[in-house]
Amino acid sequence: MEGNVDKDPVCGMTMSRGEDAERTDYQGRTYYFCSPECKARFDKDPLQYAVRRISEAEPRGTLNGPR
Ligand SMILES: [Zn+2]
Repeated sequence: MEGNVDKDPVCGMTMSRGEDAERTDYQGRTYYFCSPECKARFDKDPLQYAVRRISEAEPRGTLNGPR
């Protein structure tokens, strides 16, 4: 609740990202997970879970202007 929270892309759970949080880097972004099980699922098929956030992060609109 103080800016140190992130959403587990696998199960959608919101949890704090402490030093002991499960995490993985994928295409330049760090994803946090509530458990090793969720991290394993993400690592197994990252596109399934990361695609939405990656598309949000993509700098589209360079040619079309701001949305
Ligand atoms: Zn989870």
